[in-house]
Amino acid sequence: VSNHLFSLIRSRMPEAGKPFLTLADGSGFDYGAVLAWSGRYANALRGYGVETGDRVVVQVEKSPQAVFLYLACLRAGAVFVPLNTAYTKAELDYFVGDAEPRLLVCAPEKADELGEIGTRLGAAVATLGSLGDGSLTEVAKAAPESFDEVTRGEDDLAALLYTSGTTGRSKGAMLTHGNLASNALTLADYWRFSQTDVLLHALPIFHTHGLFVAINTTLMAGSSLIFLPRFDAAEVLRHLPGATCMMGVPTFYVRLLQQAGLTAETTAHMRLFVSGSAPLLSETHEQWKARTGHAILERYGMTETNMITSNPYDGARVAGAVGMPLPGISLRIVQPETGEALPQGEIGMIEVKGPNVFKGYWRMPEKTKAEFRTDGFFITGDLGKIDDRGYVHIVGRGKDLVITGGYNVYPKEVETEIDGIPGVFESAVIGVPHADFGEGVTAIVVRKPGSTVEERTILQTLEGRLAKFKQPKRVLFVDELPRNTMGKVQKNVLQTTYRDLYA
Ligand code: ATP
Ligand code: MG
Repeated sequence: VSNHLFSLIRSRMPEAGKPFLTLADGSGFDYGAVLAWSGRYANALRGYGVETGDRVVVQVEKSPQAVFLYLACLRAGAVFVPLNTAYTKAELDYFVGDAEPRLLVCAPEKADELGEIGTRLGAAVATLGSLGDGSLTEVAKAAPESFDEVTRGEDDLAALLYTSGTTGRSKGAMLTHGNLASNALTLADYWRFSQTDVLLHALPIFHTHGLFVAINTTLMAGSSLIFLPRFDAAEVLRHLPGATCMMGVPTFYVRLLQQAGLTAETTAHMRLFVSGSAPLLSETHEQWKARTGHAILERYGMTETNMITSNPYDGARVAGAVGMPLPGISLRIVQPETGEALPQGEIGMIEVKGPNVFKGYWRMPEKTKAEFRTDGFFITGDLGKIDDRGYVHIVGRGKDLVITGGYNVYPKEVETEIDGIPGVFESAVIGVPHADFGEGVTAIVVRKPGSTVEERTILQTLEGRLAKFKQPKRVLFVDELPRNTMGKVQKNVLQTTYRDLYA
């Protein structure tokens, strides 16, 4: 039999005794255990009635067993549906109702709450705790470790992954075995992962970054993981000596820079630092380079497409750019309304096509149709441009474009100018309803510690640097920008907060 993604992982697996994952306390699992436990959990899934094509919704704390459960779903031909651990009962109601799983796996302490949802929607309920405990594991322990994989082709679903919900309600992205396999192989090769690598993993595993980018790449290369329950800057530094690479969201790098222990010496052995999921400030890139000697490699992707672009491994890693399209992936910049290709250097909609691009939104055929061009390109919703060296630069989301007095203002351009002003740490530029202009350009700024920079100074500095229509009408200060778990700035939250500013 051939199970597209799992057969590939299995064919590339190192010998059984090679470590797969090490926990903070030094205990761990080798590759032999990965096979044995994923087999046991796959048999357990069968015991709960999970058949080929059934969804398995999983809302659990990060644990090695949760990774084995993901692999078990692949082997059993089920569709893995991980959910953010922060989701409340009302949110879960929506996701479970939408995904219609055969089985719902939750934390033991949530069994009562979710049991009710499960019963109502006709799903079995099993538990999996942060220490790997729970009813699912009890069943798995008693099950045999051998399991014959279900045949699955490239086009069959491997996972249903909900988007982060930064711009609205999360959508279920249908990811196939082919989507995940192609991207993992590409990344393992592009970023030169090998059996000698140890990836420091402090990301959540319900999102594409921590789950597919980090774990599938590791599996494809037969590398190892240091598996931390969550990001804690001091803990990460403590485990850095055992690692060769790290993947993080920009906030990880900002917080690590605040640690005195981050030096050229403590990172000398590291091979690679990767950043993604949100824009990395140029200043963070530069400070990291100055402090450690390493150029952070920034890449760009989305739930729907896996990874799309990456800065080069060998060539220049440009601050503020997300690099070139990965091998096998086509990227173009078009006029958003018409879909017409734009000349190089112009800002437009980023569209992509390739084996990485998802099959469509779960149970949203109209939405799916609307987000694909007739020639198969997926409309990402992100605006960007390609510079004369071929690097892609993201200027923001289409939804965040500010239209003021009939002119388009790209928030990133204004944010970059503001961030360069002494005393400014970071900023977010949004459009706020305005009677005369439609939207008024509005800047929300976080000062550097000790800085007293004022609205007037910022506005005066921008006068000579930006066309009048791009200059903010107001600059407001906050202690920190609202961010979601993946470190993404929630501009919709800011828009709600300031909606009456010009009323
Ligand atoms: P939703 O689609 O539900 O509104 P989301 O788009 O934030 O949420 P994800 O799929 O997790 O959900 O995130 C993908 C988005 O993250 C991209 O479309 C892009 O806007 C942003 N992104 C990812 N990597 C980068 C990066 N390196 N620089 C800038 N933006 C990035
Ligand atoms: Mg999105």
